[in-house]
Amino acid sequence: MNKRVVITGGAGFIGSHLCEYFLEKSYDVFCVDNLITGSLDNISHLFGIKEFVFMNHDITNYIHVRGKIDYVLHFASPASPVDYLEHPIQTLKVGALGTHKSIGFAKDKGARYFLASTSEVYGDPLVNPQPETYWGNVNPVGPRSVYDEAKRFAEAMTMGYHRFHKVDVRIVRIFNTYGPRMRLNDGRVVPNFVMQAIHNEPLTVYGDGTQTRSFCYVSDLVEGIYRLLMSDSTGPVNLGNPDEWKIIDFANLILRLAASKSGIVYKSLPQDDPKMRRPDITLARKLLNWEPRVKIDEGLTKTLDYFMKKK
Ligand code: UDP
Repeated sequence: MNKRVVITGGAGFIGSHLCEYFLEKSYDVFCVDNLITGSLDNISHLFGIKEFVFMNHDITNYIHVRGKIDYVLHFASPASPVDYLEHPIQTLKVGALGTHKSIGFAKDKGARYFLASTSEVYGDPLVNPQPETYWGNVNPVGPRSVYDEAKRFAEAMTMGYHRFHKVDVRIVRIFNTYGPRMRLNDGRVVPNFVMQAIHNEPLTVYGDGTQTRSFCYVSDLVEGIYRLLMSDSTGPVNLGNPDEWKIIDFANLILRLAASKSGIVYKSLPQDDPKMRRPDITLARKLLNWEPRVKIDEGLTKTLDYFMKKK
């Protein structure tokens, strides 16, 4: 009998890549999504596969799936700053109530639970790169707190269930990830810059563009997630690409790769926008023998191809 995995947020950007990955490894996949920010376009090519089941369900409500379940992966959440500012209450609820419901479900099934956490738990970090031992610098009442604090609560909930109920858990802290199936208008820097470059519109750099991010291609991330799921380590473990870019340099890179005639226009920096972000992946290297393989030019070229077809 195949192993059976439930993936919340399975119609989202990372979730849909996970669905594919597990199907390729001969799992039965139950994809749970309420389609607030996820999309059926991301999974419609899987509908003919009998090992794939889509459940249009909001994971903040009780979930029932018949039969044994081996793994529960909780990936449901708005994940771009624009999305979680547009859906602040749903973001808080899916991080809090959604974690509660999904981990309670894992406990009932005796399944291993995997929480998708985030580099946002480090807030606007005062150390760079960020190791897992850093406790972070989060503004609890700022606009980003609906996401940051929900994910911090989700980590606490996961560890609470692990310590009190002995649920077998894994926590990953995901850094900026990019690739095909990001929503064209999700407001994050990669879709924005790529769409602007393709349409020969100026790239909107927020602030002076000296803030940094480090970008990991989605296939590298998915491989790391699988390795962490199969490992003996509870985590949290950072997964991301340590290749750190100033946003202004990143804008110029995209202009070059897209052979675009666009210029650059400066816009105001959103409140509490982290000034620097780069994962310390020492732990992932050691525990999972994992590191990213896809170089930025290659990953962005694939992403450009995807957006060209979608535009
Ligand atoms: N950013 C930008 N222009 C855009 C979108 C984002 O300069 O059109 C900047 C944003 O201010 C941040 C970085 O790019 O410093 C990454 O933003 P994103 O929304 O992708 O995610 P974050 O890493 O902040 O969660």
